[in-house]
Amino acid sequence: MSKTWGLYAHIPYCVKKCAYCDFVSAANAAAAEMEDYAAALRAEILREAPPLRALWGDVTTVYLGGGTPTALPAVLLTQILDTIHEAAGEPLECTVEVNPGTVDEEHLVQLRAAGANRLSLGVQSFDDRLLRVIGRIHTAEEARAAVRAARAAGFDNLSLDLMYALPTQTLADLKQSVNEALALAPEHISVYGLIVEEGTPFAAAEAAGRLTLPDEDAAEEMYDYLMAELPARGYRRYEISNFARASYESRHNLGYWRNIPYLGVGAAAHGYVDGVRWGNETDARRYIRAIRTGASVRTPEDAERTAVNAMEEYAFLALRTAEGIDEADFYRTFGVSIDAVYSTVITQQIKRNLLCRAQGHIALTAAGMKLGNEVFAAFLHDE
Ligand code: SF4
Repeated sequence: MSKTWGLYAHIPYCVKKCAYCDFVSAANAAAAEMEDYAAALRAEILREAPPLRALWGDVTTVYLGGGTPTALPAVLLTQILDTIHEAAGEPLECTVEVNPGTVDEEHLVQLRAAGANRLSLGVQSFDDRLLRVIGRIHTAEEARAAVRAARAAGFDNLSLDLMYALPTQTLADLKQSVNEALALAPEHISVYGLIVEEGTPFAAAEAAGRLTLPDEDAAEEMYDYLMAELPARGYRRYEISNFARASYESRHNLGYWRNIPYLGVGAAAHGYVDGVRWGNETDARRYIRAIRTGASVRTPEDAERTAVNAMEEYAFLALRTAEGIDEADFYRTFGVSIDAVYSTVITQQIKRNLLCRAQGHIALTAAGMKLGNEVFAAFLHDE
């Protein structure tokens, strides 16, 4: 029986750590370690993907994320993509995350030839001053050049990441970046407000009183601008942070929010198959050693997970999307109606104008998207 499923492969390397980043990735890894890592990743793919392909048919979506996948030489990335095709089949959508400071046209031509058909470019800003402040390795011109190179290499599905509420950023700065992004006519745009994560250089700077962040009102003004401007320019907001031209939504990411199974491979990757979630070994060297000996690299994330937990998770993942919770799918998945579980919460949140209900779907309103965490918390059952 064919079934929709995804494959996520994590590349835990970057050229240099950005000042805000707490993702699992190491800077300055030796070339030999990257080669060993790529070999281990391919071995894990060959071990784990064929059984799923036998059950469900060719993989639907593939996503190479990080870290910075393009911190690996093109030859290694090409080998990884070849192995994915061999073990999992031909996906409809194959995305590679790209840091504009790591690619040229030749690199992108090779990725395209190896089957990648969508790129997600971490641009973050088109302001060189702000790019330096947040520790990116590229300039605005390098970001523009990467988009041109991607088009020349034959990519007709590009996503750009932008950040807002950056240290010292003004609304005028953000508008300029958005206009520059729109001038490049990407098919998809993701926007993220800066969150100062523990253990990052920004957290240390904040603790030392050296981080000048926009105040709450200024950050909210930036958010309101983005949420009005991007739809006005033809990008539908299909998820809290994601905007796309018609039919260019990220199929892979929609899978996460729609409870679709995905195989996670590589150090620190997460997976979700047959209702079980797991996280892989996070340390790249330990991951390589474990794969070499044939050992499992997985730790189940939710050994104690109950049906109630699964419903909570289903609800708040689906609520991230514009379509929201599909009531019929909820019933098919859990064998109970959503009202039997959440009628009080739904009524309360509709009264607060944070949820709306129409045509068999329950979704966040615009006000609800702004206060998403509050609504998600209401869907958690008390212990
Ligand atoms: S390039 Fe991406 S993953 Fe790497 S440090 Fe910067 S934000 Fe983190």
